[in-house]
Amino acid sequence: MHVEGKTEKNSINKYRALNMFDPQVSRAIEAEVKRQQDKIILIASENYVSQAVLQAQGSVLTNKYAEGYPGARYYGGCEYVDVVEEIARTRAAALFGAEHVNVQPHAGAVANLAVFLSVLKPGDRVLGMGLDHGGHLTHGSPANISGKYYESFSYKVDPRTGYLDMDEVRKVAHRVSPRMIIAGASSYPRIIDFAAFSQIAREVDALLLVDMAHIAGMVAAGLHPSPVSHAHFVTTTTHKTLRGPRGGMILCRSEFARAVDKAVFPGIQGGPLMHIIAAKAVAFKEAQTDDFYRYQEQILKNARALAQHLKELGFDLVSGGTDNHLVLLDLRGKGVTGREAELLLDELGITTNKNAIPDDPQNRMVTSGIRLGSPAVTSRGMQEAEMKQIADLINRAIEGRDDRRILARVKREVKNLCAAFPVYPKRLSDICGV
Ligand SMILES: *Cc1c(COP(=O)(O)O)cnc(C)c1O
Repeated sequence: MHVEGKTEKNSINKYRALNMFDPQVSRAIEAEVKRQQDKIILIASENYVSQAVLQAQGSVLTNKYAEGYPGARYYGGCEYVDVVEEIARTRAAALFGAEHVNVQPHAGAVANLAVFLSVLKPGDRVLGMGLDHGGHLTHGSPANISGKYYESFSYKVDPRTGYLDMDEVRKVAHRVSPRMIIAGASSYPRIIDFAAFSQIAREVDALLLVDMAHIAGMVAAGLHPSPVSHAHFVTTTTHKTLRGPRGGMILCRSEFARAVDKAVFPGIQGGPLMHIIAAKAVAFKEAQTDDFYRYQEQILKNARALAQHLKELGFDLVSGGTDNHLVLLDLRGKGVTGREAELLLDELGITTNKNAIPDDPQNRMVTSGIRLGSPAVTSRGMQEAEMKQIADLINRAIEGRDDRRILARVKREVKNLCAAFPVYPKRLSDICGV
């Protein structure tokens, strides 16, 4: 943008478009657009947002300070961002049937920390799913504040079945007597019994936090049981299956509304990211559509198809299959580690992540598994037939890892498959690229 005039010298208008002003950053973004187009993204926590979400999060709302909440801000000029945040809160409350919503957490990790801060004292006991059994860092890992400032304990999946064993969870809960129990996972392919967690929490007089970061999209569509009526608090990210901007959110019962709001601001954060909150509002509107319902349905069909074909090709799946959007492969039978498979596949254009399997004999940087998810490929329109093809490509790559000719052929097929499913229309990829 170039504007002639007296004020030009000190005006923001003197700055040119990104590709003109900063070709280094611009080129890296362009390359990333191409990577997202040219690779099969099977990272279970990633997705592609819509044009509308991109526009909202790229908007001038980034300029606005709005510490506080709608109607009670510490800055003037909040009349329009108030509208935006109110829309976001109202839509999220309707979408999930929640009594109170806080849409300000910058990330899922902050949402979890805010819940801790709202009702726990440092040193209180928390009980979450073990990190190497599918849980998340923020559920009490010693590396995270949740495990440093609180006394944390973990429950595990049954290593034989790969399923959560609720009797085991109950036993640990009764032994530990935690102040808060955390349910929810980052790599658990099965449905979590929120009612059973709620029952156990009542037995030991604990609060229940459900972190639905991975499954929020399916919960919104009614295709996965909702934790909202069972838990005191529900946290989520907005950028995984929910397909909104990168961010977090807290749903809670009205009795905790004030404590939660105070924990987010001023407890942890300063000014909210109003451009991101606008994009969250847009994503929640998208999530109310029939299209979104069909999208979530297809995520589930695709994950099931991927799981079934991989099984037919001789892969071992933790828990033997999937009820949701993700598949956890135990690669020991194929003679490769998680790290080797991740590197090999990414080289060929299939992006996955190494992932611990329950009681993994390898360390965290190596692992024996990879995690696969269907949300991103489903967003670009792929269906069951493509899942079969992807399972086949993964198998040929791993089986043929020492044969350059096989690998070259796999790479070519990946490229063709991606070309047949464009992520963003040409004009839009120009916009996100430069
Ligand atoms: C992804 C995830 C988070 C963290 O979200 P960030 O936005 O990366 O901080 C928290 N909990 C679970 C279960 C997750 O899967």
